[in-house]
This record gives sequence, structure tokens and C-alpha cells, in this order.
Amino acid sequence: MVWFKTQGMNTIPNASLKPSLSTALWRGLRRSCPQCGQGRTLHSYLKVETQCSECGEALGHIRADDFPPYLTIVIVGHIIVPLMLLSEKQLTPPLWIQMTVWPLASLALLLAFLPICKGFCVNLMWHLGLQGDEP
Ligand SMILES: [Zn+2]
Repeated sequence: MVWFKTQGMNTIPNASLKPSLSTALWRGLRRSCPQCGQGRTLHSYLKVETQCSECGEALGHIRADDFPPYLTIVIVGHIIVPLMLLSEKQLTPPLWIQMTVWPLASLALLLAFLPICKGFCVNLMWHLGLQGDEP
């Protein structure tokens, strides 16, 4: 990545160089700006920043809509369902324990993964030049 000095001690990446897809996606998983990796993509849990606070990259026009929740459900489902089946086969816990543990575990994982998936989707859309209003 090419960096240049600005006024003072701050450095920001050269805005004319677009990072690779893998770099943008990795920054999305960290909920960081796809362009510079220093600013935030999201604020207040799931709101997309209007623009990056570090490099000024415009992000507020990107609407990920339902893709982050779908992605989150797929990931959490692939974690919870095998654990449920394994525990049923190995431990055979009482039904009331299963009715308590699995919904709570699912909810906790959904809340944890949703902002990560949203950052991933926003950065993917940014890299592909999508805004979310394409026909
Ligand atoms: Zn930035």
C-alpha cells in the first residue's frame, strides 16, 4: 500500500489505489474502512458511516439490505445445528435444557456475527462498486 504524509503526523493511504478484494473483505470482517483500514465502516452497532473518518471515503450510500442477516443465519446455523445434533447423540440432555440453551446460544451468536457480516457485505459492495439499488 502506498502511503503519503498529510499535514501534521497523520498518514493516510493514497486514495487513488484501490485495495485488493481480499484486503477489503478482511477489513470488512474487522468493520474497518475498505479503502484505508483505519476508519470504521459501522457505528452504533449496524449503522454504516457516512464517510470514513480517516480517509474520507464515502460509505453512506451503500445499502446492504438483507444480505448480512442471511449470511449471519447461514453461519450461525452451521454452528448451532451440528452442536445440537452432537449433544443429542452424545449427551441426550433433557428437553428443557435444550429449549433454553440453543435459543440463547443462537441469539448470542447472531448478535455477535451480524455486525461482522454487515462490515463484510458493505466492504464487498464497496469493492464491486455496488450501492444496493441496482435492478
Ligand atoms: Zn478510510
